[in-house]
Amino acid sequence: MHSIIGAGIAGLSCSISLTEKNIDHEIFDKYSKNSPKAYGIQISPNASNILRKLGVLEKIIPQMHKIETIELISARDEKTLTCLPIGKFARERYHSDYYTINRNTLHESLRNLAEENKTVINYNSEITSTCVTEENTSISINKNTTHHTNTVILSSGINSESLYPATQKILRKKLKFRAFRATLNKNEIPLNLEMNKVNVWLGDTMHLVVYPIDVNVFNFVLIAKEKYYNKVNKTIDGENLPGNISKKINELISSIKWESWSLNESCTIQKNNFNLPIFSIGDSAHPMPPHLAQGAGMALEDGYVLAEILASKRTTEEMHQEYYKKRFSRVNKVIRNANMNGEIFHLNGVLEHIRNMYLKNLSGDFHLSKYDWLYNYKV
Ligand SMILES: Cc1cc2nc3c(=O)[nH]c(=O)nc-3n(C[C@H](O)[C@H](O)[C@H](O)COP(=O)(O)OP(=O)(O)OC[C@H]3O[C@@H](n4cnc5c(N)ncnc54)[C@H](O)[C@@H]3O)c2cc1C
Repeated sequence: MHSIIGAGIAGLSCSISLTEKNIDHEIFDKYSKNSPKAYGIQISPNASNILRKLGVLEKIIPQMHKIETIELISARDEKTLTCLPIGKFARERYHSDYYTINRNTLHESLRNLAEENKTVINYNSEITSTCVTEENTSISINKNTTHHTNTVILSSGINSESLYPATQKILRKKLKFRAFRATLNKNEIPLNLEMNKVNVWLGDTMHLVVYPIDVNVFNFVLIAKEKYYNKVNKTIDGENLPGNISKKINELISSIKWESWSLNESCTIQKNNFNLPIFSIGDSAHPMPPHLAQGAGMALEDGYVLAEILASKRTTEEMHQEYYKKRFSRVNKVIRNANMNGEIFHLNGVLEHIRNMYLKNLSGDFHLSKYDWLYNYKV
């Protein structure tokens, strides 16, 4: 029996894929079935490729928004820097669309499928510790029940450090950026927004990403330098954001009631503990900056790939080696590119000018083709 800790996107991707291979497993989640507050998520072609394989894509297509364009805009003067024709590009190149969706819709659809598969999902079951040795593997549920298992699959999200074996060193790096999220109705927004477009405003102290998630509802993600976070009222005030941001964008930021997250990065798919039956997928393995919109994409890929490896029934060490081979360099490349975007999005002065020229003077297809390695991934 494999025990999956966490019924998030990574855990459910792994579960659905294990069921397809007739592999016994169970899931534990610390929360009840209720979904958290709805936010949005971008689903790139590599992520929809996995959703298709899981049998979920067709079910959620009616609730997804097909994105035709990603428009990059200067937050300084609100002028367009470039329009990336992502819809046409993704269809021609990857035979897939680029979507946005309400994260809860995606999550519920994965969970419904796991439940239809008759997978046991133990809600209100917080795994408070794990004991993983070569002889014995167990997990502790709600601090009071010890549960024996064969393999632990950690998919418990960003705060999973305490569940790793003591021998696995976790080096989480706190990022200098903080994420703020909000959802707003179209009629509350003083901007010209379209239902098939992602808008990104680039400023030196922040960038703002806006896209549709439900009928006339838009998701706002603001990434700003951590130092501008107001710890007292737990929000961000546009007027306190110095730098090259227009008055309109400034006022918009100030008028929104944000929820915020601190951001971390690391990759724990490492070459140690290869003899222990514990694997880690999704954010628990590699929290990453959101500047490439790939956290859920990587969670889906990890879960799917790990299930295939577990089905191969090799030794624990061989399975770890295979997982490392398939995931380590890809995930690290995503993290590196996300960090690079973080730098490029927030340039100022001469470098900002050079970036803008580069964006304006080269074609959208050229800019997008740099992500072939990411979007065209075949698991
Ligand atoms: C601002 C922002 C914007 C983002 N935008 C995008 C985007 O556009 N596209 C994209 O692909 N990704 C995006 N992401 C990232 C994405 O949301 C995450 O990477 C993804 O949800 C990770 O899934 P997961 O299953 O690994 O973790 P989670 O979704 O966090 O799931 C973890 C699960 O484990 C459970 N759990 C935790 N601890 C325990 C425990 N001890 N015992 C039992 N259960 C436990 C939790 O209840 C939860 O259900 C964004 C992230 C941020 C912060």
